[in-house]
Amino acid sequence: MCNVWEAVVSGMGWVVRDGCLVDFWYDEWLASLGPLAPFYKRSGRPASCPVISFVSDGYWDVQRLDEVLPEVCIQQIIAVYPPSPLLGHDRLGWRNDKRSIFTVKSAYNSLVSNQPMEGANVWKMIWRLPVPQRIRAFIWLAFRGSLLTNKERTRRHMADDPGCSLCGHVCEDELHVLRDCVISRGLWRQVVDGNVYHNFYTTPLHDWLYMNLVGNGIVARIMDNWNIFFAILCWKIWQRRNRMIFDPDVVENEDMLRACLCYMNEVVGARTTLSAMVGPPSVVRRGEGSDWKCPPATWVKLNVDGAVNTTTKAAAIGGVCRTDGGDWLFGFNRRLGCCSVLNAELWAVLEGLRHAWRCGFHRVEIESDSREAVDCVVAGSRVRTANALVIVIEEYLKRDWEVAVKCVGRESNAVADWFAKKARDNELGEWFYETPPMEVQLLLENDQHQR
Ligand SMILES: [Zn+2]
Repeated sequence: MCNVWEAVVSGMGWVVRDGCLVDFWYDEWLASLGPLAPFYKRSGRPASCPVISFVSDGYWDVQRLDEVLPEVCIQQIIAVYPPSPLLGHDRLGWRNDKRSIFTVKSAYNSLVSNQPMEGANVWKMIWRLPVPQRIRAFIWLAFRGSLLTNKERTRRHMADDPGCSLCGHVCEDELHVLRDCVISRGLWRQVVDGNVYHNFYTTPLHDWLYMNLVGNGIVARIMDNWNIFFAILCWKIWQRRNRMIFDPDVVENEDMLRACLCYMNEVVGARTTLSAMVGPPSVVRRGEGSDWKCPPATWVKLNVDGAVNTTTKAAAIGGVCRTDGGDWLFGFNRRLGCCSVLNAELWAVLEGLRHAWRCGFHRVEIESDSREAVDCVVAGSRVRTANALVIVIEEYLKRDWEVAVKCVGRESNAVADWFAKKARDNELGEWFYETPPMEVQLLLENDQHQR
């Protein structure tokens, strides 16, 4: 255990509850982003402060967040349940498990996939980049600082001047070549979003590569597949630079950005074609409980669902409440920001309970098609590191009413799914439907026929 302790520690992350202990800027409390300091919009380093200081009257202070962080970060933050003293103290959790529970299995899995020690999960992240192997290898070398820059060549006694041969800068290292040298800088300037400009140019090498390559890329939103584009452009910058230096007779007139875009589309297109060829799974599970059923007499039934865009992580939730005769009571939906599928499903349960409680129902059967979310709700706060949503849901369940939580098949959750997807086109915030929208009538009738 001693040998791997460091890796175990690097797998720890914060579970924010009251937001008093965790540092907003320097602790890692948003697994998808890492510490927020590199995203600080203003110049200099932000002063330490607890997460709770960005909450006002129980809600995230979006205006204040907007002053210091780019939109991409804010989208992730507002999908986190705002810290509150009612939730208990902040805790350490285990990041390699979705429910933050430490298990030997998840620790082992994270260790074996992590062999090179340079920062948690970097190797895995690079290895998973959907780009040709030679570009992955190039990115890996850049990450390790092993590209043959003049700095490295001097270190290996292959050259005696570490300076940049194109612009004369004193030290030609990875960051200089890929980002800061005149030509590279001019290229990035054309594609990097103005909001993240400052971070983009001030972040150290490892963070810089990480924030552009992880997931869809944090600097993303400029375009889909930013991480792929970023990797390709880095690689092309390096290649062209070598040609210019070692073969000065070659005239470079290729439009780099256009070439990168074409290459990216080729890479993405190749993947799309592949999955189109494989096609959707041919077996559709239609087991028991695939049809919507009325709740027992005197109960109401609440179907809830979360929808997360796999590329942007933009999340939305929705739900519908019906009587024991299958008649309409209300519908709701809400666009959340960006979060994991599990968190979206938990948000859906919470919002459903909130509306049902507000409407004064005493017996509520709540159905979700997420096995994982239902398991989390049932396990509740017995799981020491359960996330804040689970704690708040549990608080609702303890109130003076009867609530049954069930997992059902997707088919019987179609109406809730419709509301969740519908919310993705809405503004941020929540919507309540006292009468059913026209477009959902057919789905409602379908459920009525099956009950
Ligand atoms: Zn230079």
